[in-house]
Amino acid sequence: MTDPLLEPLLAGDRRALAQSITLIESTRADHRQRADALLAAVLPHTGKSVRLGITGVPGVGKSTLIERFGLSLIGQGRSLAVLAIDPSSKRGGGSILGDKTRMEELSRQKAAFIRPSPAGTTLGGVARRTREAMLLSEASGFDTVIVETVGVGQSETAVADMVDMFIVLLLPAGGDDLQGIKRGVIELADLIVVNKADGDLEATAKRSAADYQHALRMLRSPTPGWIPEVVTCSAQTGKGVTELWTIVDRFYKAVGEMGIAHRRAEQARAWMWNEVGETLLGELRRHPEVKRLVGGLENDVENGRITPAAAARRMLQAFYGR
Ligand code: GDP
Repeated sequence: MTDPLLEPLLAGDRRALAQSITLIESTRADHRQRADALLAAVLPHTGKSVRLGITGVPGVGKSTLIERFGLSLIGQGRSLAVLAIDPSSKRGGGSILGDKTRMEELSRQKAAFIRPSPAGTTLGGVARRTREAMLLSEASGFDTVIVETVGVGQSETAVADMVDMFIVLLLPAGGDDLQGIKRGVIELADLIVVNKADGDLEATAKRSAADYQHALRMLRSPTPGWIPEVVTCSAQTGKGVTELWTIVDRFYKAVGEMGIAHRRAEQARAWMWNEVGETLLGELRRHPEVKRLVGGLENDVENGRITPAAAARRMLQAFYGR
């Protein structure tokens, strides 16, 4: 039996998309089964969008930029789904990304769909649901997907691992402050955008951009065929924002269809193993005998009475009933 959500979803019905995402976010076993079937059915209709990731610390201007960038894309006849990853997010407050009315004007557009981060404790769980939400958005006809994250924990890597092009948003900063930027994040960047290049900050922004450009030269490009770029822009005045699409366009041309397909294939394989890991770990943690042992073993390991390796073996033996 085909899912009643399938047809309206493929026809671009926004409520069907929202409901489908709610379905994949559910942890109930029967919902999961239905979600898996729905995802299998939409799979042939996915993969046609431009997949962008954007990260930056709170306050750097992500929402302001995405709104302006999104409105300009829509003006060019494109459509945009914005999905957020924020592992700290809890429904009903406490979320870094969801604590204010974001992208108000964009959210009123028919050609835009904005979905806050799913509530979830583990980054793995949140990332899985965001990947699936991306597939559903593509199936419902969105030709551009932006996955947005705040720069906390490992969420940047999780986003970089699900998009084609990864964009890092930075604030204008001088000399020493450059050191404060997490090197690991810069290494993932296909494009660095120094935002707030307006008013008094414009000159500083230009200087930071040159510094970042210099820093990038020491790093290997994360994407074969592409040399990472650094630009400045002002999400507030709009200066440099439409040009970002020109760079995205150039990126896709430089990397090529084969390059993008190769990256997506690698991501899908890694995602599969990630699913295996998450599922096994979940089953292990729920196993009654393991649950009975775990507190004692943790204590023994902490106090050096047993090696972590031996404790892990004991836990696995209990899990496999040996
Ligand atoms: P987010 O937390 O990264 O989503 O950042 P927001 O988009 O909410 O922006 C944080 C603050 O910076 C807001 O008060 C914005 O108005 C301001 N802001 C965003 N972009 C710019 C910009 O290009 N120039 C200036 N001067 N302010 C900006």
